[in-house]
Amino acid sequence: MAYGESDLVATFFTESDGKVSALVRGARRSSKRFAGGLEPMHVLALTLEDKGSELMRLADSRVVEMHLSLVGDLAALDAGGRALRWLRHLCPPRTPEPGAWEGIVGLLAALDAGVGESRAPEDIDLELARFGFALLAEVGYGLELDQCTRCGKTVPAERAVMVDPAAGGVVCTSCGGGAMRLSSRVRALAAAVARGEPVAASLDEARALVKLAEDVMAAHGGLDPAR
Ligand SMILES: [Zn+2]
Repeated sequence: MAYGESDLVATFFTESDGKVSALVRGARRSSKRFAGGLEPMHVLALTLEDKGSELMRLADSRVVEMHLSLVGDLAALDAGGRALRWLRHLCPPRTPEPGAWEGIVGLLAALDAGVGESRAPEDIDLELARFGFALLAEVGYGLELDQCTRCGKTVPAERAVMVDPAAGGVVCTSCGGGAMRLSSRVRALAAAVARGEPVAASLDEARALVKLAEDVMAAHGGLDPAR
């Protein structure tokens, strides 16, 4: 975000402190000082000055793991941007989230390594959904897909289910159901992805998984998927 005439306020997701915002003096006057150190999608080493005020100050930033293939690929860039937006909305400031850190570093590396002709578009959405489900579980909103979140009744695996994103999972029809219908196939895929198992899915199915993760985040974290 632009700040004053020549400064920026940058938000970082850090290994040690979770989400932090820092004032970057002079960043809009000269792009040389931090070079690629302010570009999203890379792993950076930051030197932050913390004087106890709400904003830290960025003293130095250098790239330690560059994801050049990722930033050169529109689909990968879009997925990485979505994942970072999810983190920004779900993670409270200055709270270490080691699981989410591991997740985002793994996702960005996978998006970077996978760029090339052999990657199908659904692979990107599957990676993104995997990160989304793991992130939800990390922040305490893990999806319940096996039983009704209201009455606890187990729903047979071969059945389609109704999901209420605000309830965090399946709501059976006797409990009022939910706004989102998942076919038995997508439900099984979602459960496998949430368990970290490898799956094969069509593009439509992979997109449905990303939408499921994003709808749950919107219901819990006030995420506006458009921003
Ligand atoms: Zn129920």
